[in-house]
Amino acid sequence: MRTRISAIDISNIGGKRMMTTETGNKTVADYYGDNVFGIKVMRNYLSEKAFKSLSEAIKNNGPLDRSIADEVAEAMKNWAVAKGATHYTHWFQPLTGLTAEKHDSFIELDGEGGVILEFSGDALIQGEPDASSFPSGGLRPTFEARGYTGWDPTSPAFIKEGPNATTLCIPTYFVGWNGVSLDKKTPLLRSMKAISKQVSRLAKLLGIKITQNAFSTLGGEQEYFLIDREYYHQRIDLIQTGRTLFGKPPAKHQQMADHYFGAIKERVMGFMEDLDREMWKLGAPLKTRHNEVAPGQFEVAPIFENQNLAVDHNMLTMEVMQKVAKRHGLACLLHEKPFAGINGSGKHCNWSITGPDGKNWLSPGDSPHENERFLIMLCAVIKAVDEHAKFLRASVASAGNDHRLGSHEAPPAIISIYLGEQLTDIIEQIEKGSGAKSSKKGGTLTVGLDSLPTLPRHASDRNRTSPFAFTGSKFEFRAVGSAMSLSGPNIVINTIVADALDDICTKLEEARKSDKNADKAVQKILQEIIKKHKKIIFNGDNYTEAWLKEAKKRGLPNLKTTPEALEVIKDPAVISLCERQGVLTKRELISRYDAYLEAYETVIRYEAALAADMAKTTIIPVAVDYQAELAEMIKSVEGINKTKSASSRKFLKDVSGETEKALTAVGSLEAALKGNSIEKMKDGVAALRTVIDTLEGLVPSNKWPLPSYTEMLFIS
Ligand code: ADP
Ligand code: MG
Repeated sequence: MRTRISAIDISNIGGKRMMTTETGNKTVADYYGDNVFGIKVMRNYLSEKAFKSLSEAIKNNGPLDRSIADEVAEAMKNWAVAKGATHYTHWFQPLTGLTAEKHDSFIELDGEGGVILEFSGDALIQGEPDASSFPSGGLRPTFEARGYTGWDPTSPAFIKEGPNATTLCIPTYFVGWNGVSLDKKTPLLRSMKAISKQVSRLAKLLGIKITQNAFSTLGGEQEYFLIDREYYHQRIDLIQTGRTLFGKPPAKHQQMADHYFGAIKERVMGFMEDLDREMWKLGAPLKTRHNEVAPGQFEVAPIFENQNLAVDHNMLTMEVMQKVAKRHGLACLLHEKPFAGINGSGKHCNWSITGPDGKNWLSPGDSPHENERFLIMLCAVIKAVDEHAKFLRASVASAGNDHRLGSHEAPPAIISIYLGEQLTDIIEQIEKGSGAKSSKKGGTLTVGLDSLPTLPRHASDRNRTSPFAFTGSKFEFRAVGSAMSLSGPNIVINTIVADALDDICTKLEEARKSDKNADKAVQKILQEIIKKHKKIIFNGDNYTEAWLKEAKKRGLPNLKTTPEALEVIKDPAVISLCERQGVLTKRELISRYDAYLEAYETVIRYEAALAADMAKTTIIPVAVDYQAELAEMIKSVEGINKTKSASSRKFLKDVSGETEKALTAVGSLEAALKGNSIEKMKDGVAALRTVIDTLEGLVPSNKWPLPSYTEMLFIS
């Protein structure tokens, strides 16, 4: 019988470590960014000339002056070594969706039996990991295994703390020897360049003063679960697949909505405090923390940043969350659906553009109807999302996210845009053709208590059910899965919006040639966009059956599964879009399709194999034993009482019946595995789960070999 956890002594968990962190009594402002080779450190460690050259390159996204590389490397090494570093690594993001690193120490032999510490400019700028084992969708067979990592100076180097020493990490992109991208950073940087170019082109057309590079911004809200680590260790399914393959939902979970924004329990608070501190040291601006809807579910959100940096920071946050959880005797679950029947976890991708004037171009201002750059951006997004809804959907496709999208608590797989009352009204005015003349105002909220001041009210309400919602000064793409890299969806948003802007700018330039009335030309272009693409706008409840029907009528795609969604990557229109915008070549796209489909099928396969194995070797034996025990018991009770125990017999029959069904279901699943049918494996896992979960309700809880949902979800 497995051990149960009753009271856990948490007094020591995490405590020791907290004492030893060098942050001590310092305020956040004192230690924020301590582990980052940022501007301030650079100024201290570099010569005036090198500092200027590097900070210029960072601000303008390159190019980098190679002649300063040695000096920068030396400075980085000295800084890192002073912070306990023995090794450095290029830190990159292969198609696994995770991060990768290969450490080299700074030591070089000095020829006298000792070592000196060295780090050259060449080693900083370029690495060459043997990368034949990373997924590449056939781009890199092992006989041409060369891959290069290249320094991305726009994301600063940082220090990772190990148990006894530290490692200098250098964010890099990762390409094959022929220059093809093998990672998620290269196309992200390319897509950022594409949209930056189009936004600046538009700024010129609108006569907006250009003072800096335009760049996309990102704030990624991260949802996650915490469970006790003891339970985690008892669930091989969680360890191996990230989700529970079996488990009966508890009678009470989230129905009362008593967890959302509830007071944070002390043990969880310890985790959150530690996470914040670790990430602040890494210069990641974590801002918000709270309980989420499901018991045991939480969220963390940063202040938005330059998109490239925000993606890196989110990758780091996910990694640090796992580490910090361990210190607190917890396991952090990032899977999109760790528990069936209970809310899953997503990652809200808040996206906007800072223009070449330094302003947020998705900020409507007080009178959005007069805000030309805002209206053009808005219409560009509408056009982009409508034209490429399938591509956007594909960017969030994964085996894990399939369990979440379209479930009743997550945005559906149908992509639509929520604009809210104020913007919808403006859009309708634009559609009518005479341009927008007014903006609905939010007014004030009266609380009905004389002692309280009135509150300003937003001009539009929130809508939590929309997959792509305008939320005040940015768009929020909510279909992203919690375990995913934010790169994919952001590459797609940048690229499709860049392409829409490209088209708008071309039309505007054309119109300018013949007509000097710029306003009119803009009005006409936007009117056409609205007429053609307004079908993507939906302000209602996305979770309803009615919307499913309506969306179908509007011809909006509903790609329910990953294989269906991924198909679009090979669509000639998508290939031509990505090539046109210089983001991904046909070859790179096809390789991504192959890599992602393979990843999907691999997950389905190992989940199926594990489910069959767990059922057969861990769960069903318990049910079989219990069946025998019941039969024995009934026999002796009836012998003594000299009457038939009808209800007991019925109960035994139920247990036997379900056990029999479970064995049959295992048989079917094993057949599906043998036949290598992905669809049948998926169905087989679901069918087996149904029976096993029924059995869980029949077998005494102290005999059940896995921690229950109730045990796992209600941590104290
Ligand atoms: P809400 O609670 O309305 O969803 P918040 O203001 O709390 O929005 O922001 C949620 C996330 O959106 C945060 O990470 C925040 O930094 C981010 N965000 C806010 N403005 C922008 C912007 N201009 N670009 C990208 N992300 C943004
Ligand atoms: Mg949000």
